[in-house]
Amino acid sequence: MYSTVARAGVRQGHTSPKQLLDEIFESRSVIATIDLPNHLGMLSRRLPEEYTPENLIYSHTLFPLYAPFVPETRRLQCMQWLQQGAQGAVHLALGVVASRIKSPRFVRYCPGCQTAQRELYGEYFWLREWQVAGVESCPKHGALMDTRIARPLIERHRFIAAAPEYCYLAEQQKGMRPSDWITVQVRQLLVRPVKASSSFEQWTEYYRNLACRQGFYRGKAQVDHSSIKDSVLKVWPAPWLTRNSLMPLRHGDDESDWLKAIFRKHRKSFNYLQHIVVHQALLGSHWRIDKVLNDVNRKPTNEKRPQVKVVIQRPSSHTPDQEAWFAFLKSQPPKQARRTSPALYARLYRNHRDWLLDINHRHAQKMANVNAARIDWDKRDRETLQALRQLATFLKVNQQGPRRSRTYYLKLLGTLSTLEKNLYQMPRTSSFLVANSESVSQYQIRRLQNAYDDLGVHFDSPPKWRLLRNARLCEERMTEPARQYLENLVETAHEVQRCGR
Ligand SMILES: [Zn+2]
Repeated sequence: MYSTVARAGVRQGHTSPKQLLDEIFESRSVIATIDLPNHLGMLSRRLPEEYTPENLIYSHTLFPLYAPFVPETRRLQCMQWLQQGAQGAVHLALGVVASRIKSPRFVRYCPGCQTAQRELYGEYFWLREWQVAGVESCPKHGALMDTRIARPLIERHRFIAAAPEYCYLAEQQKGMRPSDWITVQVRQLLVRPVKASSSFEQWTEYYRNLACRQGFYRGKAQVDHSSIKDSVLKVWPAPWLTRNSLMPLRHGDDESDWLKAIFRKHRKSFNYLQHIVVHQALLGSHWRIDKVLNDVNRKPTNEKRPQVKVVIQRPSSHTPDQEAWFAFLKSQPPKQARRTSPALYARLYRNHRDWLLDINHRHAQKMANVNAARIDWDKRDRETLQALRQLATFLKVNQQGPRRSRTYYLKLLGTLSTLEKNLYQMPRTSSFLVANSESVSQYQIRRLQNAYDDLGVHFDSPPKWRLLRNARLCEERMTEPARQYLENLVETAHEVQRCGR
């Protein structure tokens, strides 16, 4: 949510944070919060219908990392606060403030993911999981990197959008295994549907059962704490446990040793990292936190459940498999859906063959009709222009990269062939491309300028051959304007040096 508000500010061209707050929240006192932003009721009103406050809380904040582990009354109270805006209350109630787990010191990012974001969308955004304590790398690209934006934010009212000036695209170090274990579970928590929380009683019963099932009992009623501790130490590297303040105590009493306490009667909540540490140690790598939460929820409880709003499901004569297929077809053609979930397709083919073939056929026809409908080129032209402008702003801050030719722009938009064939129908887009595409000369000059800036760190007056080598240019291939530019650079550099002496 934080990222979205920040990007809205960029798109609307607000330069002052207060302006943005005024426009979005109608209040200048809102504090920009990364993990658990509030005033979501107000935000929801500005967005399309499907973005209910509940949807924003669960799909666009870090609330789902905490929600399943606090008692139900507290979960509901926190949802209220997040909608309205009680600064700080939610952090207190969820134990974020007092927690032994400290939020990452800086806003973090994954250069690999951001490169993909740029190619797909032409802009960056902050991903929720990068800001989660315990997640230290991206399983796909490697270690996350720190921006220089400190947490908590120093400028409390400013929403900062992910952009090249904050996210240096450097080579990433290899990721760490413990981090990947955590990411697997965190991702499940982040997409888990809204559910009532379990009670302390249910958690107590669940952990008693877990110890018993895994053989961590001494005699009949004694949990074998020291063997549990050994398992944790065997699986999790000691430096990692220490860094996250999760190292079990050597001779701890029950109250101060969290690992003992979690197998006793629960009197307070434990956080997601503590649950993950225990399960990974006891169950190995194939457990799922999603399933654990369902198991806990099914344990008997005497506590009265608070009144929870029940979401009424649309009555349906379809099986869950069929419903799942409908859901797939909303976002992708049948062929692709089949590739995404071959098992589902196979089951449907076995059990509902006629239905499946019929629905796929109808879907294909519907898509053909949609495509055949005349494209509104005027609208397309305006939209493309808008996208191109954003792209240009983005590229302006980033001086590296290949020549910004017409093809390059269109390729970044992801619609090269369609647009190229139809440029004659899109006057605004065409003239933007004419005005903004980089000629070969301009491209060579940009490379020389970059080389000059690069070398400026080491040389007062970088020699010509170094400039050429750094810019990967040779004199024979240079255009006349670029050659002229190079001569000027070298001359100015000498001039500067002479004056310096
Ligand atoms: Zn990544």
